[in-house]
Amino acid sequence: MACENDPPTPFASSPFGMGPMRLRRSPALRRLVRQTNLLPRHLVQPLFVVEDATLAGPIDGLRDQRRLTVDQAVEAGVRAQRLGLGGVLLFGVPANKTPHPETSGDFLLKAIARLRAEVPELLLITDVCLCPYTEHGHCCVYGGDGSPDLEATRRAYGRLAVEQAGAGAQMVAPSGMIDGTVGAVRGALDAAGMVHMPIMAYSVKHASGLYGPFRGAANSTPGFGDRRWHQMDPANAREALAEIELDLAQGADIVMVKPAVHALDVIASARRDFPRATIAAYHVSGEFSMLSAAAERRWVDWPTALHETLYAIRRAGADIVITYGAIDWASRPEPEQNCSGTT
Ligand SMILES: [Zn+2]
Repeated sequence: MACENDPPTPFASSPFGMGPMRLRRSPALRRLVRQTNLLPRHLVQPLFVVEDATLAGPIDGLRDQRRLTVDQAVEAGVRAQRLGLGGVLLFGVPANKTPHPETSGDFLLKAIARLRAEVPELLLITDVCLCPYTEHGHCCVYGGDGSPDLEATRRAYGRLAVEQAGAGAQMVAPSGMIDGTVGAVRGALDAAGMVHMPIMAYSVKHASGLYGPFRGAANSTPGFGDRRWHQMDPANAREALAEIELDLAQGADIVMVKPAVHALDVIASARRDFPRATIAAYHVSGEFSMLSAAAERRWVDWPTALHETLYAIRRAGADIVITYGAIDWASRPEPEQNCSGTT
């Protein structure tokens, strides 16, 4: 039985029993009390540049995404800049494969240089990995005994990073998640006098079934085996914090978690445990494809579903969201929440 000293229930003053709903009654009220923000500057758009122009064209499974010639990459960069995006993340798709990648290729260095020159305000981040270049499609080089040669792999990452930074990249992103590569890239950059060049590390990359459309786009599907020997078991979350700690100690300026939507718990834990770190999250190709495939069938509403997904990643604690939907999202007015298209 209620007594005089009990605190009032939240609904006690309203004859209609209204409580938190009062602050949801109009777009202006909802805007006022919104607790997370998402702006174009938080988003990074991946771009794929091909060496062989005949391979340019739509990417299977990735709505509105194309493999680009150098000219088209510059056009996409101009668009990203006009929309105020945080930046673009550039992946090279070479025409030829090799067991021991020595270079990112003239085509990619040219794309970097042209983006730098023609869209100077756009932040240009470049991917540093070996899988698009190796004939076996793995993120490492193999030694004569058939096992990964980690030292040679680290040297190759360092070489590619220095080359890309020299061409005009403003941030390099070693993505192989192979032990020691972040430190190797930091060391190579510093030795080349590029002490100012920031590194975004793929610190937590779960071995995932959600990378398929990306691998098709980057032509980087492993020819044998899988990547579970260097990427993280999706069952693990505490290990992710150890990976982040290691990468920060090796000189990472930004740490990344992926796949973002499937690791919102990891993003939230990282935000809590590394409050001063800048955290990026990659909304990966399979996550993007699932949404767009459902939207094509009219099972979900595309703009609101994309909007909600990107907010979820931000809400979990990511400072930066890398998504194939960056240009799309920034091109539309924000869908008003709690109206048509939502439940
Ligand atoms: Zn790779």
